Amino acid sequence: MLSVSQAVERILARTTTTKLETIPAIEAHGRVLGADAIAARVLPPFDNSAMDGFAVRSGELPGSLPIAGVIAAGDPPGTELAPGTVLRIMTGSPMPSGADAIVMRENVQDDGKTATFKDPAPVGRHIRRRGEDVDLGDVVVSAGCRLGPGELGALTSVGLSNLEVRCRPTVGILSTGDELVPVGTVPTEGQIINSNALTLAAQVEEAGGVPIPLGIAADNLEAVIEAIRAGLEHDVLITSGGVSVGDFDHVRPALDALDVEIDFWKIAVKPGKPVVFGVAQSGTLVFGLPGNPVSSLVSFELFARPALLALQGAKNCSRARVPVELDTAFEKTPGRTNYLRARIARRGGVLVATPHTKQGSGMLSSMVGVDALVEIDADVTSVPAGTTVSALLLRAV
Ligand code: AMP
Ligand code: MG
Repeated sequence: MLSVSQAVERILARTTTTKLETIPAIEAHGRVLGADAIAARVLPPFDNSAMDGFAVRSGELPGSLPIAGVIAAGDPPGTELAPGTVLRIMTGSPMPSGADAIVMRENVQDDGKTATFKDPAPVGRHIRRRGEDVDLGDVVVSAGCRLGPGELGALTSVGLSNLEVRCRPTVGILSTGDELVPVGTVPTEGQIINSNALTLAAQVEEAGGVPIPLGIAADNLEAVIEAIRAGLEHDVLITSGGVSVGDFDHVRPALDALDVEIDFWKIAVKPGKPVVFGVAQSGTLVFGLPGNPVSSLVSFELFARPALLALQGAKNCSRARVPVELDTAFEKTPGRTNYLRARIARRGGVLVATPHTKQGSGMLSSMVGVDALVEIDADVTSVPAGTTVSALLLRAV
């Protein structure tokens, strides 16, 4: 059986990138930049004051000097500072010519007409120079970066109001199982609510994809074939359920019938051993995930998420892997890498992981409040409390 990292390597080897599109920056949060963004303006765009205070000629301080006027943010550059005077100036206002330092308002005695400076002011103090932050032609954000609030601010400040990004991959989400009923339906005895559809849609969105709900396919080969065929028009198709060796598990035979080239279908991982990955003739990447909600959640995280990010050209397709101290002992059989759903707390400088008590792959309560997936290597059988292991951080802690 393949290890998780071997499987991810094989998935990424089959993953190309989506097309480029240009969109308004206001719509680009969470998108991956498609080409290096080059500054079209310098930053700051003009010399300006870093403080509310007084614009002075450094050589005239200390002493008392008349206040000749005030400069506000938004005033055009070009005001003159006459020798022997000072100008009141606000943060972000253009520096007047002749001034070579700013003195903070807090350090000045000011009666409205005269300003008294007790201390000298070194040349250049509290002045933000034109171009000192970003120069014309600088790469402000490089291709492959997923755009967050900071990147959007920097890009728009240098004059880029439209951004070239990779298209969001469309991701069909198909649930299989005769027992399933749509969310919002009251199940009768023996029926199960199709919760995977919502979990997967949220995971797809979080990874930058566009979830396309494809509903529920019944457990017969024809129905699964037809539903999968419809899903092959998307960049990615994710199915859940019906992928193991049960009498009613039709996903694999359906993929064969549709000429989907199967790359692998078993991984040495727990939860989520039966995972099919294949590539359709249409180029669609197909992930057949197990139906157990926990297995579906974890295997999306391990296998489908990196592919969705790679499709968008993201430089970083993996979660941060951090050392954590396991606060309870853990035992397992050898052979498969285990991913324990856990909460993370900081104690001193150490991240401490508390695995949820119910780790069964059908235990939905273990999906609530998961900060990290704690990774216990395949060959390990016993981990004493206090051992440092690695964890995939699913959110900031
Ligand atoms: P399967 O992988 O089809 O053998 O399903 C394994 C378990 O997961 C069964 O108990 C199913 O009822 C459950 N299951 C399958 N699909 C879903 C789904 N879409 N939402 C919630 N539970 C599911
Ligand atoms: Mg099933």
